[in-house]
Amino acid sequence: MKFVYAFSEGNKDLKDLLGGKGANLAEMTRLGLPVPPGFTITTEACRAYLASGDEPAALRAEVSAHLDAMEQRMGKKLGEGRDPLLVSVRSGAKFSMPGMMDTVLNIGLSDVSVEALGACAGDERFAWDSYRRLIQMFGKTVLGIEGDLFEDRLEEAKRAAGAASDVDLTTPDLKQLVTDFKKIVREATGQDFPQEPREQMDLAIRAVFDSWNGSRARLYRRQERIPHDLGTAVNICAMVFGNLGPDSGSGVAFTRDPASGRQGVYGDYLANAQGEDVVAGIRNTVSLADLEQLDKTSYDQLLQIMETLETHYKDLCDIEFTIERGTLWMLQTRVGKRTAAAAFRIATQLVDQGLIDETEALHRVNGAQLAQLMFPHFDGEAEGDLLATGIAASPGAAVGVAVFDSEAAVRRAAAGEKVILVRRETNPDDLDGMIAAEGILTCRGGKTSHAAVVARGMGKTCVCGVEELDVDLKGRRITTGDGVVIEEGDTLSIDGTSGKVYRGEVPVVPSPVVEYFEGRIDPRAEPADDLVRAVHRLMSYADRVRRLRVRANADTGEDAARARRFGAQGIGLCRTEHMFLGDRRELVEHLVLAETDAEQSAALDALLPLQRADFQELLEAMDGLPVTVRLLDPPLHEFLPDLTELSVRVALTDSRQETEEKDTRLLHAVERLHEQNPMLGLRGVRLGLVIPGLFSMQVRALAEAAADRLAAGGDPRGEIMIPLVGTVQELEIVREDAERIIAEVEQARGVVLELTLGTMIELPRAALTAGQIAESADFFSFGTNDLTQTVWGFSRDDVEASFFAAYLEKGIFGTSPFETIDVDGVGALVRTAVRSGRATRPDLKLGVCGEHGGDPESVHFFHEVGLDYVSCSPFRIPVARLEAGRAAVARPPV
Ligand code: PEP
Ligand code: MG
Repeated sequence: MKFVYAFSEGNKDLKDLLGGKGANLAEMTRLGLPVPPGFTITTEACRAYLASGDEPAALRAEVSAHLDAMEQRMGKKLGEGRDPLLVSVRSGAKFSMPGMMDTVLNIGLSDVSVEALGACAGDERFAWDSYRRLIQMFGKTVLGIEGDLFEDRLEEAKRAAGAASDVDLTTPDLKQLVTDFKKIVREATGQDFPQEPREQMDLAIRAVFDSWNGSRARLYRRQERIPHDLGTAVNICAMVFGNLGPDSGSGVAFTRDPASGRQGVYGDYLANAQGEDVVAGIRNTVSLADLEQLDKTSYDQLLQIMETLETHYKDLCDIEFTIERGTLWMLQTRVGKRTAAAAFRIATQLVDQGLIDETEALHRVNGAQLAQLMFPHFDGEAEGDLLATGIAASPGAAVGVAVFDSEAAVRRAAAGEKVILVRRETNPDDLDGMIAAEGILTCRGGKTSHAAVVARGMGKTCVCGVEELDVDLKGRRITTGDGVVIEEGDTLSIDGTSGKVYRGEVPVVPSPVVEYFEGRIDPRAEPADDLVRAVHRLMSYADRVRRLRVRANADTGEDAARARRFGAQGIGLCRTEHMFLGDRRELVEHLVLAETDAEQSAALDALLPLQRADFQELLEAMDGLPVTVRLLDPPLHEFLPDLTELSVRVALTDSRQETEEKDTRLLHAVERLHEQNPMLGLRGVRLGLVIPGLFSMQVRALAEAAADRLAAGGDPRGEIMIPLVGTVQELEIVREDAERIIAEVEQARGVVLELTLGTMIELPRAALTAGQIAESADFFSFGTNDLTQTVWGFSRDDVEASFFAAYLEKGIFGTSPFETIDVDGVGALVRTAVRSGRATRPDLKLGVCGEHGGDPESVHFFHEVGLDYVSCSPFRIPVARLEAGRAAVARPPV
């Protein structure tokens, strides 16, 4: 086995073996670019070291051979002679792990070679500066000495010398600093700083290997799901010096603007500096364009190289370079990170330049970037008065006056004011206020709290769980931890992308991408921004290639219409519960309190026409497309008054002997329906089976609405969906009843209705017995919210606020399983249900309507597992369309 590769031996496709940095250094060497000589120790060597605790036996000899070759080429010897060779030792894993592992520069300097270097360079100061950097970096990363000990000493030296920055330190200052740094090393380790160059190098290599298992690196990998057994490569490269005086320097550059994607020359340069000084911000850099004035030859060469790299990598590259006394050296390149807007622009520019095709362009962007482009944002230039930070629950930027209840939100919004609804947490009662508000702010609850889910569904900005804020609903004020008080009517700005809450107004910029989806910007017309054009092109391509259809979770005509503008191909989930709130709550009370069949029928008869009108609106908005109506799911007590409030009210009226009989009965009913674990209680199909007539009324309303639409010349495609089914017997009973009602309506109206009936799969038992359930279902829709809750045993309303932060911190998962599907657990059940459902009924239609339906990563899983569609909130439809397209095109070899 070969453990060491010269830069001239590798190439960019060997990232597994040489790490990202090593593979790209090799590629640049192959392209004939000016890379200093060097070699890479493979990840295999690192793995062998980590497994046994020792370097593999052959490694030392291989390193010696490569070092010899390097010395020959350079005509210098490591740390020896009149002109000593120095090297850098850098980590470089397959996946970039920024700042997680170690790097040591200037290896080879010692008390002897520092003098030689100074004499040879004709610059004593430079040599001593390099030496103090070596001891500092080596001390910190190889010997594990607290970095602050060196930093503090450096600061003291600058203070004592009256130096504004490190370049103002003189040779004697630096010599003193070296003495002091060596003393720090001796005191901390009991040993002298090693003077032998090869020993320095070997220790540094070992330190880089060890840094793979440093705690920061482990945590990072756990969160990013990077396997722990990959190991890192080590790159050993001849040092070139940017700190050799004013005709030297270091810089970073991008082949296009990583912020906007525009072509041009972007980068920073710092004269008389080593690489880390540029990013550390110790002195002000100049722009790359200014390099043209300083060193035209190097500048021209650099531009030429940047073009070569971009054409070769067919993407935006970022690079690090050094100029040593007028000679340009390339130290690193890689495909560069970019903003969401730049990603879309660059992908289409590269297609136009003929560098990549549309399939590759689709891989260059993703749904998370598209989502970012869809939210209005605060003007980046503006500064706000930060009050507190909470959980970024639904992105965007919202400004308005604080209001503390739904009624005030509706009233003030109707009067033309913009409002931010502030609650401790929200519940279905707050819906009107949430609709009226620009944004929602709560001090409790996590990313799947009611406020967060509903806000995301509406595309409304939401910051939740801001625990530093004390929300006093009675006093109608918020108090911050620092004692700042915000009264009702005071202006707030909330940023749902960062979770930040500001006092006063921060200016907001609307999203042109949403304007485009809404049909208010024509991407073909001249005024359209090139970003809008790029989004339009890639979306059109995704739509052409995707297999998954995309539907909306929508319960109102308005939402359905917007969803359709955004590209929805039907409704995958209409939650009917909101149709039982507001004025209709009273009718639900009648239903619950009914003591005779006649009273119950009367209550249901009153609900029927209202429900029918709801469905008509939806069927009309989605004419010709499927509309899945889910029958009532939540436990009934959610529609009744709160037990505590009602008990207090009755106790008070009792004491005055004024209690109305209705209230007493209501209290008894609320007590009777009260459950310890309502999520696992009387809800979903169970409710439909024990409250006679409830589901029948809903089925009848849908059948009659469909008949009305037919009569009006429409094309209604209703689908009845039963929630929380655990066994086929439940479904059979509901189906029998539904079929009877549909037949009645068909006969009465003289029509044939295209109504199918299926079930949600949201309990483990349903997934495990899907083969049986499919006997009675025309379709399955995976309710992955409940399925996640029941598979993990996580209460979806509680866990995110209570302990998910700790789980995320410990790296137990990188993202909440309520956000991205847990492929190994919940996903395994989905797979099982798909397989056994289709075995029973090959034409079974399969979809998903949990929150995961709009999550980019999860969409790929649903594509792979063979679902027919995903359904998500209207605002996430474009994201799902894009990701479904990306999932459908196999990635071509790069
Ligand atoms: C689900 O459980 O995934 C689902 C879509 O239903 P709800 O969120 O309404 O329980
Ligand atoms: Mg559910």
